[in-house]
Amino acid sequence: MTHARDPNEFPQPYRLPDAEPYWQELERERLTYQRCTNCGEAVWPAHSFCPHCDGPSLSWEKSRGRGAIYSFSTVMRGPTPVWAALVPYTVGFIQMDEGYVLFTQIEGSPEAMAVGKRVEVRYTRRGAQMLPVFSLTQS
Ligand SMILES: [Zn+2]
Repeated sequence: MTHARDPNEFPQPYRLPDAEPYWQELERERLTYQRCTNCGEAVWPAHSFCPHCDGPSLSWEKSRGRGAIYSFSTVMRGPTPVWAALVPYTVGFIQMDEGYVLFTQIEGSPEAMAVGKRVEVRYTRRGAQMLPVFSLTQS
């Protein structure tokens, strides 16, 4: 199914079936991820099997919503009007404390961003979808 995208609205994520519990929990402002019940590794993005050991059983767990910046890039020119209204904004990968990596928006001054800085989640509605964004913390 294809939807025409309005450049004045936030693009909505593709809700793949394996990740449906993730999207549903975000509506309750809960960040979740998968963990393999065989090898114990954290798994993200959502899978129907474990990419570490090929195990068939993954459980959903609640994240504490904390981690450290693994990499980031600050966008100075938004690709559509809704993003242009937010510039400059930063996106990047967060190394989550539970052992997985999450791509997200990171709020804060571009000058304050650095690999290794601690961040924590908050939730914001973008169109129909509640999404996690991260902010720099003091610790
Ligand atoms: Zn596994």
